[in-house]
Amino acid sequence: MAGKRLILMGPPGGGKGTQAKRLQDRYGIVQLSTGDMLRAAVKAGTPVGLKAKAVMDAGQLVSDDIMINLISERIDQKDCANGFILDGFPRTLAQAEALDKLLKDKGIKLDKVIEVAVPDERLIERITGRFTCGTCGEGYHDKFKQPKRPGVCDVCGGTSFTRRADDKAETVVARLKAYHDQTSPLMPYYKAKGTLEVIDGDRDMDVVSRDLERVLGT
Ligand code: ADP
Ligand code: ADP
Ligand code: ZN
Repeated sequence: MAGKRLILMGPPGGGKGTQAKRLQDRYGIVQLSTGDMLRAAVKAGTPVGLKAKAVMDAGQLVSDDIMINLISERIDQKDCANGFILDGFPRTLAQAEALDKLLKDKGIKLDKVIEVAVPDERLIERITGRFTCGTCGEGYHDKFKQPKRPGVCDVCGGTSFTRRADDKAETVVARLKAYHDQTSPLMPYYKAKGTLEVIDGDRDMDVVSRDLERVLGT
């Protein structure tokens, strides 16, 4: 089967989005970020967005039902036919079990589950320094990845940047707790299936990218 079908797991701010965007370009597969999908729904004021907003602002997890429907419909779209990277899904055991079932029903097999591991003490700094180009979505960081020309996006030349409402220190604590309580049990789940690869995400972005390519091959 052509393409690759991957899950990229890891804590909030661990570098999933950064790496998923690079894999998207490198392998011609599409990044499916449930966080981005939810933020788009909030912005558009859809029924899902209206339900999700307060939960996201509190740093908690949106209900499994909503998330499973969202991803099931998204995977059916044409651009996923050549492969995809799930970024931010699944985040609970119920989501992982539902994903197994829906992939089986659709006749899709996962190639790999990769955990980008980063210790908690790094994450606050990563998250509170994060900002994004408002035009093209390129990710930046106050300290680790500044635009080459201050105030101008390297990729599209845009000059407006955004910061996420939930990227403040108070909310990060709740997001880390949700990660440890609800998402970390997925590692033994995938480990038992023999599909889990763990990558050290506490290194330079380019080093992490090379390690991912090593694991994924050509
Ligand atoms: P996630 O999608 O897992 O929440 P991001 O990819 O958005 O994480 O990364 C969080 C922040 O940390 C961003 O500002 C990003 O530029 C920065 N970042 C990502 N990977 C690294 C890294 N390996 N070293 C330092 N900073 C990083
Ligand atoms: P992070 O930088 O924490 O990895 P995301 O952009 O993936 O952030 O997610 C932002 C928020 O969206 C989460 O804190 C949560 O409220 C919600 N969310 C995203 N994906 C899921 C999911 N699979 N299940 C439940 N909630 C989700
Ligand atoms: Zn841009």
